[in-house]
Amino acid sequence: MTDPLVRSERTRVAIVGGGPAGLLLSHLLHLSDIDTVVIDTRDVATIATTHRAGILERDSVRLLVDSGASSRVLVDGHEHQGIDLRFAGGSHRIDFADLVGASCWLYPQTEVFIDLHATRTGDGGDLRYGVTDVAVHDVEGRLGLPAVTFTDAEGVARRVEADLVVGADGSRSMCRALVPDRQQFFREYPFAWFGVLVEAPPSAPELIYARSAEGFALISQRTESVQRMYFQCDPGEDASTYSDDRIWHELQTRLAGSDGFTLKEGPVIERTVLPFRSFVQTPMHHGRLLLAGDAAHTVPPTGAKGLNLALADVRVLAEHIELALLKDDDDALAAYTDRALARVWKAQHFSYWMTTMLHRGAEASEFDERRQVGELASIVSSRAGSTYLAEGYTGWPR
Ligand SMILES: Cc1cc2nc3c(=O)[nH]c(=O)nc-3n(C[C@H](O)[C@H](O)[C@H](O)COP(=O)(O)OP(=O)(O)OC[C@H]3O[C@@H](n4cnc5c(N)ncnc54)[C@H](O)[C@@H]3O)c2cc1C
Repeated sequence: MTDPLVRSERTRVAIVGGGPAGLLLSHLLHLSDIDTVVIDTRDVATIATTHRAGILERDSVRLLVDSGASSRVLVDGHEHQGIDLRFAGGSHRIDFADLVGASCWLYPQTEVFIDLHATRTGDGGDLRYGVTDVAVHDVEGRLGLPAVTFTDAEGVARRVEADLVVGADGSRSMCRALVPDRQQFFREYPFAWFGVLVEAPPSAPELIYARSAEGFALISQRTESVQRMYFQCDPGEDASTYSDDRIWHELQTRLAGSDGFTLKEGPVIERTVLPFRSFVQTPMHHGRLLLAGDAAHTVPPTGAKGLNLALADVRVLAEHIELALLKDDDDALAAYTDRALARVWKAQHFSYWMTTMLHRGAEASEFDERRQVGELASIVSSRAGSTYLAEGYTGWPR
């Protein structure tokens, strides 16, 4: 029975999670005249200021630009035509442009979110941020239409009924638990990333992925005066106990080499420890529910694939939803999982490979250390090896 105190509404697709996956899906469906309501527990300001991904594959940029979601990426983003692999005290450039004729773009996830949010808001999109008590009901549609209930930011209890519900609710997804016949695959790693935002000029024009006896480090850029850097640490590390001096020491040690390279230092303005793991759930569909992005899979950040996979899922999912809702194609929803997971497993492998090639294992022996350097030397000295890395990093063609 309907509670008279709950405001009932109807849409075609209710999207749980208004991060990059949820917002881009809402945008793509809007282009096909399919109404959506996006529901998110966090508020817009929090999402717009939480630093996460920074690298967009070539086709992610194309999708954002061609769909009209962001033109700013081409103006404010930075095209990178390669990365440096640094090990055994020296740097080796992987030249994407030369190897695969592609590039990637440095454009922070915060900016992707800001663009998607502005585009949806400008188009009159129905976005509900800062909600509480989210619950999803009857995804099998046994009692009628599935529904999402929640309390909105003004404290009003609401129920949104929809033809379909999409769980785009990130790595701690509650929607994925609504798939009863789910299989889940995990891999834990015995290390984490210590991530910092620093006020300093860029130390290099492109990203540096460094492997050293002390562990991994990644040097990336944000603006002319703020940079993002990471170094490998134990998952139990407390970021607040690290002084600026200790952080710079950890980073400089991992980057040091006979070429005299040093990082340009400055105050550390943000620090966090980021544990990570590999995870995949299948299927990504059950009844009237579909999953997208981190809700269905996460990757270690080393391959810069998480945000790109979320956008790639949504591009495919929008097509399948259009077939189901506009062409009454009853098989379209079931076909989504296989298409999405084909790319996900390639990205899982690439992220795992980059992670294990560059990080120091907890029990690494002298043999392991030397074998790892041998692997990196094989990649940089072989056009085939370098091409494999360049293809994976810039993104496999769709
Ligand atoms: C430090 C770091 C660095 C990274 N670097 C990269 C990189 O370089 N390249 C890359 O491609 N990826 C990277 N990633 C991964 C990337 O950030 C994620 O893969 C991406 O955010 C996934 O998008 P999403 O929309 O699926 O999930 P999210 O961005 O997590 O969005 C999910 C949304 O759902 C909301 N939500 C959660 N639960 C509920 C609920 N019950 N009800 C309603 N709403 C809910 C959340 O508030 C959130 O806004 C990185 C991640 C981290 C943490």
